[in-house]
Amino acid sequence: MIDWIAGYMSGIESYPVLPSIEYGQTGTAFASEPSREGKSFPQLLTEFESKILPGITHWNHPGFMAYFAITGSQAGILGELLSAALNVNGMLWKTSPSVTELERLVLDWLREALGLPAGLFGIINDTASVNSFLALAAARERTGLNIRREGMTGRSLPALRVYCSDQAHSSIEKAALALGIGAANVVKIPSDERFQMKVEDLVEAIRADRERGFLPMAISATIGTTSTAAIDPIPEIGEIARREGIWLHVDAAYAGSAAIVPELQTMWRGIEHADSIVTNPHKWLFTPVDCSVLYTRHPEVLRQTFSLVPEYLTTTDPSETLNYMDYGIQLGRRFRALKLWMVLEHYGLERLRAVIRQQVGYATRLAEALKNRGDVELLAPPSLSVIVFRTITRNSSGSIDEAESERISTDLLAAMNRSGQIFVSHTRLRGRYGIRVAIGNGATQWRHVEKILEFLA
Ligand code: PLP
Repeated sequence: MIDWIAGYMSGIESYPVLPSIEYGQTGTAFASEPSREGKSFPQLLTEFESKILPGITHWNHPGFMAYFAITGSQAGILGELLSAALNVNGMLWKTSPSVTELERLVLDWLREALGLPAGLFGIINDTASVNSFLALAAARERTGLNIRREGMTGRSLPALRVYCSDQAHSSIEKAALALGIGAANVVKIPSDERFQMKVEDLVEAIRADRERGFLPMAISATIGTTSTAAIDPIPEIGEIARREGIWLHVDAAYAGSAAIVPELQTMWRGIEHADSIVTNPHKWLFTPVDCSVLYTRHPEVLRQTFSLVPEYLTTTDPSETLNYMDYGIQLGRRFRALKLWMVLEHYGLERLRAVIRQQVGYATRLAEALKNRGDVELLAPPSLSVIVFRTITRNSSGSIDEAESERISTDLLAAMNRSGQIFVSHTRLRGRYGIRVAIGNGATQWRHVEKILEFLA
């Protein structure tokens, strides 16, 4: 199987990025119950190749430029393998001391490498969605409404308000749903023509909310929005959060990894105001899914929110012992730090930087080529490795024919994705359909990105 994996990674381009398969086809390829006598590994590998592989979308394919690539790498895969072999559970320090200590060490290395401020506490969870939930739960606890003990029902509480831009990822609203804050209390602040949160609208929303007796609880700003990789004005938002005493959460799930490149660390301007920051090495740091990092300057609040120690988990360890189960919703914890350690140490910071620089360079080159065409419009300013564009046609008066432009762009996207050579996704910006390209796979070269231009030709 190790040989198979090595061959898969080196021969990935022999697979179509997207499978051509009907819904239900994979599930019905199998018997209705598992084997009674068991099957050998060679038999299973054959079945894996014939029944499972045809239904796989190859996220490792260098032509994968949809969503945000969850970039695997050989080092990351080996880290996963060792972690599965050890099969340890890092709920307490003593349930496997290396799990806790490597997580702390690697997150400190990563913080330093990304150019984030000293003194941040880090924890790895599966996804940014979960980490943003934890951050907003801590923000809710910090309101002093004693929600941990008293709950949110059966008593009178002010409406708790969460602010984010209209470009924020849906995970922020989902976190608010799960925390009992309610969708109606997630205030979507309009974004400007660069898709960045409008600060003056934020100020006004907070003012109006206070006037109505609402309690502003958290602002979630984004560094690298999902649709266009826009960066909210963190220095201004941070000033507001500090002045108003509101928790500032920064969602850098995709873009944060790019800060490993020193010249891209300008993205963190104002980050000293953040109470919590999320970034996903599984999005752009060549670490297989799942690996999302939450940093916070208030570990004591996170602990106060989630620590609950039943008798069977008490220890006689010194009080300063870090037990990660105290800082989140999960008890059991996978050894995710191992794959991140493997990635950082095997490739080394310089190689990781070189790959990300190259990918940002490809995106810039693609944007330049697209800008030079009369039949293409960029729908957002290029940012990091994300480009959003559409093909346009004009009607007899010379203005853009919206319906026809959308039809052609949709057809173009379908043709690209049918090819099996590349996979791009779409978004909608100010009502306009856009083809969205996000470069993030470690093996992507210019020849893969250039295919987009060939489809336009
Ligand atoms: N935040 C941003 C900005 C994202 O783009 C995404 C996913 O693309 C997420 C959060 C959610 O990430 P996850 O799948 O790790 O929950």
